[in-house]
Amino acid sequence: MPTAIYPGSFDPITNGHRDIIERAVEVFEHVIVAVLQNTTKSGIFTTPERVELIRQVVGSNPKVSVESFSGLTADFARQKGVRFLIRGLRAVSDFDAELRIALMNRKLNPDLDTVFLMTRAENLFLSSSTVKEIAMLGGDSSGLVPPVVADRLKERFKPAAAG
Ligand code: ADP
Repeated sequence: MPTAIYPGSFDPITNGHRDIIERAVEVFEHVIVAVLQNTTKSGIFTTPERVELIRQVVGSNPKVSVESFSGLTADFARQKGVRFLIRGLRAVSDFDAELRIALMNRKLNPDLDTVFLMTRAENLFLSSSTVKEIAMLGGDSSGLVPPVVADRLKERFKPAAAG
């Protein structure tokens, strides 16, 4: 069983991402969770903070490693000698965007294939941007993200939450 890369922004990692990682390691020997250093989108957490949060969430699982990268995912996969990407699918709207990304990645790197895992029903409406919005408005994100992430969000938005 080969290695796969699970790329994304993970700002922050949610229960949906965690579920995809847990299921991906049942299919692949090793999973590299790869945090894209996005130069255009500004996020809640810096890239090193996102990497650290993911590391805390996956714990000491030897089948998972966490890295960050910049530039094209297709190039990162080539550098790593990895032929498979993992992506999660929620709704039909995800499919449209993901199909385009997968086809473009294969055009850029013909050895690269994308493997899709369907979300669990309970994570269907869960996205990092929803979590961000809730946290910024002082809402409780526990139940949507792992406890360590919920704590960090609470800390980050404390002044706003206190009004
Ligand atoms: P993006 O690349 O749009 O920034 P994210 O970093 O949020 O996406 O997510 C990375 C991957 O995880 C994408 O394939 C996305 O579809 C998937 N994903 C995000 N949230 C969920 C969820 N709740 N259930 C399943 N997959 C998810």
